[in-house]
Amino acid sequence: MATPRIEINLGKIGHNIKTLKELYASKGINIIGVTKAICGNSDIADIFVKNGISILADSRISNIRKMRTEGVKAQFMLLRTPLLSQAEEVVKYADISLNSEISVVKRLSKFAVEQNIKHKIILMLELGDLREGIMPSDVDSTIEQILELKSIELVGLGTNLACIGGINPDEEKMNYLSTLASNVEEKFGLTLDFVSGGNSANYDWFMSTKNIERINNLRIGESVFLGRETLHRNPIPGLFTDAFTLVAEVIESKTKPSLPYGEVSQDAFGNIPEFKDIGLINRAILGIGLQDVMISGLTPKLDLEIIGASSDLIIVNSKKIKHKVGTELEFNLSYGALLSAMTSPYVIKKTSDYLNAHEYCESVEKKYRKHLQLLQTIEIRENNSPLISLKDSGFNLIYEPSVQKDYQYLVREEVYEKIGRISRILDEQDKTLIIRSAWRSFAHQKQLWEEKVEFMQKEHPKLEMEEIKENVSYFIAPPSKSLHATGGAVDALIYDLKNDFVMDFGTNDGLKIDLNDKCYPYHPFIPALAKRNRELLINLFEEEGFVVDLKEYWHFDYGNAGWAIAKGENQSIYGIIEA
Ligand SMILES: *Cc1c(COP(=O)(O)O)cnc(C)c1O
Repeated sequence: MATPRIEINLGKIGHNIKTLKELYASKGINIIGVTKAICGNSDIADIFVKNGISILADSRISNIRKMRTEGVKAQFMLLRTPLLSQAEEVVKYADISLNSEISVVKRLSKFAVEQNIKHKIILMLELGDLREGIMPSDVDSTIEQILELKSIELVGLGTNLACIGGINPDEEKMNYLSTLASNVEEKFGLTLDFVSGGNSANYDWFMSTKNIERINNLRIGESVFLGRETLHRNPIPGLFTDAFTLVAEVIESKTKPSLPYGEVSQDAFGNIPEFKDIGLINRAILGIGLQDVMISGLTPKLDLEIIGASSDLIIVNSKKIKHKVGTELEFNLSYGALLSAMTSPYVIKKTSDYLNAHEYCESVEKKYRKHLQLLQTIEIRENNSPLISLKDSGFNLIYEPSVQKDYQYLVREEVYEKIGRISRILDEQDKTLIIRSAWRSFAHQKQLWEEKVEFMQKEHPKLEMEEIKENVSYFIAPPSKSLHATGGAVDALIYDLKNDFVMDFGTNDGLKIDLNDKCYPYHPFIPALAKRNRELLINLFEEEGFVVDLKEYWHFDYGNAGWAIAKGENQSIYGIIEA
């Protein structure tokens, strides 16, 4: 796939929106969705709307206009005090704007009169961060002037902290805003719809406050996208922090010195660079640079260090691994990195195909039903390659104990070679392949099936036998249908030798796997680490020509009917070997 790209997981963003909306609503606060960091991307804007957010806010009128013309069904708020030169468009495209200059409000009024509409405004108050806002002492006189403008409707007061000055939106600031709002309502006989206390930085205040007083609104961007509050950048429990992933590609990979040689002057940006000599290192160049993203805001998902950047490339020390040219490497993004990548015309924006887990699971199940039909149609051109025991191979492998006595972990000859190569790659990474299962006789498969049925009966005594069988067949094939009977199927996990544990694949506790739909290999809602571990496992097998099972991230097929279907072939090379 083309790079550099930013992968946007709409399911995760939707989850974050829903969670935050419910959290803030629990004390009576409505949230407005802030779209500036994503440049008014209408796929993402739609996710806000789908999850019950009715007002979207952006700093740029061009983004608001775009969302409107692309059919996003929301009310729109302009977050930044309008440019005098854009007053006409602001009235035309925004329902509400945040304001702090009376001259601008008057200008908005003029165009609202011309367009024969009422434009709503929230008056922004300066509470110490020293960004936009009128001084509290000017509130009354400013409101008097606003109330004279018949086409302007004052709908609220607001403030914005923790931005330029880094000033905390704490209890004292919020109570002060509440008091100012109450005073205004009393003095002018108004009801303010919005008392808008701030942004993603208000999380700590919200969680700790006993009384939100008059605050009934927050404008939230970063928490939704990156799952964090913004005073300390701590993750918010229950939110995804990895809804966005930046993907870049290796364009050169060599072992070179860590210290530049020759006489030193300025680098491309006028700095005198300093490097530490740590000898020869694996240096990879990635096709992404400062014109694509704010490099300092990238955190590599793999163990590598960014050691330099120019307008169009970055250099990384890839440490133990020498990545092949063309390898894609992934990064998490800070707010600045997100902002810059979304803004850069060079970065491809790729929204995930799966809106949510439910949709993904349904698509897997549909494919699976098709797969079962196709299984009957695959012609077998048996190549007669023999079954060989992995146990005698001498490869570094760990064998998961089997229900079958003296289980030999047999596979076809080609599969045997492939497992050997995979095990050697893992040796270099201080890891070992765990072989859970390989060829299974009919008797073996029957035993697995019967044990699972028995277990389910105990677990769910109320279920009918038919239902139990159906549930079991979801994950364990009946003997005559099992791809394990071909010697082309291998079940595998990975053991981390350095940390001395079975790696986390999202549904396993060590070797014990909980069978549920999160076992579907690309389930969107498994933790980031587990996802990466699955990628590692799947990539190792795919590089050797295996295909991963539709529903089990640990099951790989080569040469058999399952493999043929996934490869779009109508012939397999391994048929069933019964015993
Ligand atoms: C950007 C912005 C917000 C949203 O801030 P986040 O930290 O992304 O939640 C809220 N209000 C104003 C005025 C802003 O400019």
